[in-house]
Amino acid sequence: MKKEFDDVADVYVINTCSVTENADKECRQLVRRIQRRQPESLVVITGCYAQLKPKEIAEIPGVDLVLGAAEKFNLAEHLQELSKGNSAKICSCDIEDVAGFHASYSVNDRTRTFLKVQDGCDYNCSFCTIPLARGHSRSDSIEGVLNNVKELAGAGTREIVLTGINLGDFGKGTNGGKKKEETFFELIQELENAEGVDRYRISSIEPNLLSNQIIEFVAQSKKFMPHFHIPLQSGSNEVLGNMRRRYRRDLYADRVKHIKTLMPHCCIGVDVIVGFPGESEEQFQDTFDFLHQLDVSYFHVFTYSERANTLAADMPNAVPVSVRHERNKLLRNLSYQKMRYFTEQQRGNKRMVLFESAEKNGTMEGFTDNYIKIKTPYRKEWVNEIIEWTV
Ligand code: SF4
Repeated sequence: MKKEFDDVADVYVINTCSVTENADKECRQLVRRIQRRQPESLVVITGCYAQLKPKEIAEIPGVDLVLGAAEKFNLAEHLQELSKGNSAKICSCDIEDVAGFHASYSVNDRTRTFLKVQDGCDYNCSFCTIPLARGHSRSDSIEGVLNNVKELAGAGTREIVLTGINLGDFGKGTNGGKKKEETFFELIQELENAEGVDRYRISSIEPNLLSNQIIEFVAQSKKFMPHFHIPLQSGSNEVLGNMRRRYRRDLYADRVKHIKTLMPHCCIGVDVIVGFPGESEEQFQDTFDFLHQLDVSYFHVFTYSERANTLAADMPNAVPVSVRHERNKLLRNLSYQKMRYFTEQQRGNKRMVLFESAEKNGTMEGFTDNYIKIKTPYRKEWVNEIIEWTV
């Protein structure tokens, strides 16, 4: 039976992330918490960090099993052979050998579900460990996605967020490969025609893979919401080059312009990294100015931190950590202003809101199609319903 982390359980599974700056420290803290409370329980560590640093993790006192990217799907089998001992077992293969696609979805509440349709990445951005932790690009088949959607629709899901590591690269088959068997554009066309689910969102898509064809499709779609999240990472072309990103800022600006011409109400989120090695004051200012004039709605700002086994970690001219944090703060402030401006622009407009089931202090929340959060006094009859709303 599945339990909350703070409950007493026979087995605790910690799914680690390599993107988190303090994955190692956080993992140690969690294991210590479990040991204090339930010293006889089995502790299993899996996820990206477990794939990247299996030996380090196995040395944490109290860990019984470390499962790599491929093995995590065989958790039940491994548990049958596992008993509490003094040392941890490592079951992990080389990431090059990780193949196969395992679809999964996480159900927050019934309303909105995150459905994984793609995994891994064939790009080689110089700061990123994800290809090392998750392997090459591979995906579910369109048929597989449609089956999952049918199942979710049957369970009452009204909105699905399509997720992946490099979602726009969908279609390289369940074992990956150079040739595309299907495309992301074909997938969204099929989903538009499938019955049962009312709304879809595209979680995040690389700007070079967000074609005009996809933008134009979303603009006339009844089911794909006017909301994009597009990683930019830097507004300086030199920094983008050093990051080994596959586009330059003009392409990004063109994408945003095309989206806003067709969908002036569209919400656009941006990922940006500050403090990349060698990012000068002028290059940061370039990013700031570029984002300032860009018609986007919010940013997710990441402070660069060195990751072992990446090209960027060995690049010269590291930016002092205090400067990285200062730049992060400046962009977060700008993001806050952008979000307020976007919301103000939308004020008075009628939009469709899907309300979620959680009740917080007598209130409920939902999102408009263009991703504005709405909070209102709780009404049971609105749970999982799509209601017309004046923003
Ligand atoms: S596209 Fe994304 S996941 Fe792939 S290497 Fe670049 S940052 Fe990492």
